Amino acid sequence: MRKKIVAGNWKMNKTLAEGTELAKTVNRLVEENDVTVVLCTPFIHLSEVNKIITKDSLFLGAQNCASEASGAYTGEVSAQMIRSAGADYVIIGHSERRSCFREDDSLLNKKVKLALENDLIPIFCCGEILKERQAGKHIQVVKTQIENGLFDLTTEDFSKIVIAYEPVWAIGTGVNATAEQAQEMHKIIRGLITDRYGHQIADNTPILYGGSCKPSNAKELFANPDVDGGLIGGASLTSSDFMGIVYAFKEI
Ligand code: PEP
Repeated sequence: MRKKIVAGNWKMNKTLAEGTELAKTVNRLVEENDVTVVLCTPFIHLSEVNKIITKDSLFLGAQNCASEASGAYTGEVSAQMIRSAGADYVIIGHSERRSCFREDDSLLNKKVKLALENDLIPIFCCGEILKERQAGKHIQVVKTQIENGLFDLTTEDFSKIVIAYEPVWAIGTGVNATAEQAQEMHKIIRGLITDRYGHQIADNTPILYGGSCKPSNAKELFANPDVDGGLIGGASLTSSDFMGIVYAFKEI
């Protein structure tokens, strides 16, 4: 049975006080069941939120890590530093990193490896922009991102990866992919993993959907056989919306 995961990506939101308040509420509301809940906070929140987490099913994550291990890289935060603050997960290759910070596949591949070397579970994001979907290139775009970002990993390393399919046109727009669109792409991704690493690894790889997921559409999205949860942006900023999404699994 592969993991069900709902991860909140706070992005560049919340003061330290606001973030710790939100984390306290989520920690209180999270149930000890088979859904893994992850809070991907800004770097400065990590160690404070780590002190708040008491539930076995609630985990801490970062939103990015440096592409170098350590040294003279002013302003960067390494995978080792993130791990030392108590995180278990790190988002890598979010579309905002790819577009605003020009992060390309080879840089992301370095980040994935550094995360793994430091015992962090990468949540590797992939997804096409609207123009690519309209041109019918979305499958090729996602395939290339996954192959370049992940497919030189050993089987043992790949078995730790979580993938998030996030069509860029759905992120923060209020327009989510339909359940059919999500399932279609997730199934294709699982097929790629099967071809590269075999059935057992593919069956165990969690593939999350991201893009305008909310309590009202989470159940329909998560009910698909290849959708194993979500990476949640805007709706992770309020405990009621975020937990509404986590609880969607109870209705499936
Ligand atoms: C995201 O940024 O990963 C995301 C899915 O954002 P939103 O839920 O706001 O669309």
